[in-house]
Amino acid sequence: MALYEGMTDIPTRANIICDLRSDTVTRPDAAMRRAMAAAEVGDDVYGEDPEVNRLEREFAEMLGKEAGLFVSSGTQGNLTAIMAHCGRGDEVMVGSGYHVFADEAAGASVLAGVALYPLPMAPSGGVTPDAVAAALRPDDAHYPVSRLLCLENTVGGRAVPLDEMRAAALTARQAGLSVHLDGARFFNAIAALDCAPQDLAGIADTVSVCLSKGLGAPVGSVLVGPADLITRARRHRKILGGGMRQAGLLAAAGRHALAHNLTTLAKDHRRAAALADALQALGAGQVRQATNMVFFTPEGGGTAPLRTALAARGVLIGGQSPTVRIVLHRDIDDAGLAHVITAFRAHYGG
Ligand SMILES: *Cc1c(COP(=O)(O)O)cnc(C)c1O
Repeated sequence: MALYEGMTDIPTRANIICDLRSDTVTRPDAAMRRAMAAAEVGDDVYGEDPEVNRLEREFAEMLGKEAGLFVSSGTQGNLTAIMAHCGRGDEVMVGSGYHVFADEAAGASVLAGVALYPLPMAPSGGVTPDAVAAALRPDDAHYPVSRLLCLENTVGGRAVPLDEMRAAALTARQAGLSVHLDGARFFNAIAALDCAPQDLAGIADTVSVCLSKGLGAPVGSVLVGPADLITRARRHRKILGGGMRQAGLLAAAGRHALAHNLTTLAKDHRRAAALADALQALGAGQVRQATNMVFFTPEGGGTAPLRTALAARGVLIGGQSPTVRIVLHRDIDDAGLAHVITAFRAHYGG
């Protein structure tokens, strides 16, 4: 299959050396595969999969919530949360660039029957209390009912400061709204903000966290929150077709990630900073770095020639233009990073 539309020198999977398109490309390592193979399993729809039960409990405990729910993806975590918080005709406020608004095919509207109200985003990636206040609906039959504020962290790699998150959440709560946090890269945020998981999770009622990005698990997310909401979310997961049976094979990968892979995220951030420095030194365009992501805007526009040149050396970067996203993750070690920098230098003659 073609990795890039229209490219002539398409690398095959075998000669990709560094795939920097996303941290979702991480593959389970040998230790994780051993943990998966050894998983004790049962039927999770009956509540009888010990690994899933442990994963849900451990996650809830770590984030300071009553209960957890293993779901198939971050998208499903957000949607089950929205369905647990809201009824049809309710309204969800969400940053205009956040995944729930921009990247989930309007599932919340299609399947949960809620209206999505996009809020302007601050440069930090957060939403301001003023923006929340301005979006609140009066109690009037003409309007949907403001019900939920959906936050996100990290946002395009940016770790939004806790005080900004708290201020927005407070304004929402004072108006009677609940708060959900899309924490797809929750632990990248924790590492960057240098805070405890509960410091960030405590800002929201429910939090969803991806296992399948920088944490390196192949599949899955966990939604945590109050027991009654998680019970409702479990029913919605069933409605969405997300009830899985011997899911302990996957939950074991998540538990392994939780136990072993959290500390490597800070290394990804350091490597992203090193790559950003190297690109800056090339003087070939604008560079911005946040947590594990580097955003590069080549001078003179057009990312296609760069993409092709890098791909010829087995280096894949994001397909965006004019600014490409380059994502560091646990499958790119120091040798990989050096190879990536060499490939950029070769293209720009640096
Ligand atoms: C990746 C991502 C999701 C959804 O994850 P999937 O598992 O791909 O559905 C949700 N929110 C954010 C911010 C993400 O980056």
